[in-house]
Amino acid sequence: MKWVNLHTHHPSDEQSIQLINQPLQHPFAPTADALYSLSLHPWDIEKINLNECLQQEDQFLRHPQVIAIGECGLDRVISTPLATQEAIFSQQIELSEKASKPLIIHAVRTYSDLIRIKKSSSPRQAWILHGYQGNKQTTQQLLKHDFYFSFGPSLLNKSPKLIESLLTVPFEKLFFETDDSAEKVETIFIFAAKMLKISVDQLQQMVFENFHRIFRYG
Ligand SMILES: [Zn+2]
Repeated sequence: MKWVNLHTHHPSDEQSIQLINQPLQHPFAPTADALYSLSLHPWDIEKINLNECLQQEDQFLRHPQVIAIGECGLDRVISTPLATQEAIFSQQIELSEKASKPLIIHAVRTYSDLIRIKKSSSPRQAWILHGYQGNKQTTQQLLKHDFYFSFGPSLLNKSPKLIESLLTVPFEKLFFETDDSAEKVETIFIFAAKMLKISVDQLQQMVFENFHRIFRYG
């Protein structure tokens, strides 16, 4: 059984299934057997040649090692207008549906916007909130709308609020990730299993099954 690292910016030697974040504006040179998600990050929207990136996206998306879109999403803390971000995000949703590849979402103070957008677009693909840090109430709201949750290294800070959220998420909606940290995904699994009062093997198995079901892989 392998660890599943749902989102990483730095592929490691760890014996794991890693979904590597591939920014659209960077050259795409896939390594054999590696898995990628194509990212048009809201932080990058005003820094990149958007048309060029969007053109490439359609082509890259057909690559068999590209199994997801994201991270993409909405961020209320940056200066790029939310309307601009939402227009780009809508394109990413359309591509995700067209290519049948799940969406990995960056969300900063935009959970209610995401619920609104998800309701109006009724996607078939899974929407996974990466680096999830919402509280219990937010988690319950998001669960009503069928979101998935990926917890990152911030879980290791042992914030009681975040642990409460972790305990709120059903096992079939759960993922873990290292994001841009140097942490091992194994460390996050071990800590989460302890909080969830299950064995690490069980958690590993359940997350692997989630990965298999959503990405039709493994
Ligand atoms: Zn990231």
